[in-house]
Amino acid sequence: MGVVLVTGASRGIGRATAILLAQAGYKVVINYQQSKQAADEVVSIIRAHSGKALAIKADIADELQVMAMFAEIDNAFGPVTALVNNAGILFQQSTIEELTAERINRVLATNVTGYFLCCREAVKRMAFRHGGKGGAIVNVSSAAARLGAPGEYVDYAASKGAVDTLTTGLSVEVAAQGIRVNGVRPGFIYTEMHASGGEPGRVDRVKDLLPMKRGGQPEEVAQAIAWLLSDNASYVTGSFLDLAGGK
Ligand code: NAD
Repeated sequence: MGVVLVTGASRGIGRATAILLAQAGYKVVINYQQSKQAADEVVSIIRAHSGKALAIKADIADELQVMAMFAEIDNAFGPVTALVNNAGILFQQSTIEELTAERINRVLATNVTGYFLCCREAVKRMAFRHGGKGGAIVNVSSAAARLGAPGEYVDYAASKGAVDTLTTGLSVEVAAQGIRVNGVRPGFIYTEMHASGGEPGRVDRVKDLLPMKRGGQPEEVAQAIAWLLSDNASYVTGSFLDLAGGK
């Protein structure tokens, strides 16, 4: 079925995606940055259902760590055939007056540079011109790329705008190399990410303002990612699926 790397897969959307992709038959690499225990738990869940999984610690914003991670995958499972760029960060909700260069650069380093580095290493292994057999990439963006997250985290929203441009450009660049590149833009999903912005209950605060009157679950995003990676989406590239309850 193939080998998939899911970045930031120890919790939230990445975790749900890793578990779903294992059920679909992929060998799954669970990238994590902090919690080995949480990553090992995802591996255990997958193995308990006879799936194949491996946890690898790496900061996706660090070029050498990303290269080492892909090399470790080559040795353990063979080269990746699919990539889910999912690991992302945001910081305390604020207006622009409070934003420092250090914070903005940290957001961009993970959410943009990290995505680029993982795409680069994946393309080196998937592209026909490098002897690869093709593959598929899904970049996890955000509805914030469209909405801008005013008063919350415009820096984060802008990083996701850059992710969408990466998806568009790379999809064309590697279309003839057997690689499809697509994006998902989740809206308000129940994960621990909102606590990083200082508002753990953010989804419940805004849910009545959403056309569907509810937040989304990580599993609902995972289903879209799995479809975009699958052969059922074989003619889909450079596309975006909005998972935002109509927002
Ligand atoms: P989350 O905070 O639960 O998960 C993100 C994971 O990424 C964490 O495990 C974190 O440790 C990891 N991570 C962060 N920086 C990393 C780095 N440098 N290297 C490796 N791992 C790193 O959040 P989530 O909601 O599951 O978010 C997953 C993706 O979905 C993110 O890209 C996020 O921007 C996007 N998203 C989430 C929502 C939402 O409402 N939850 C909405 C839109 C988009």
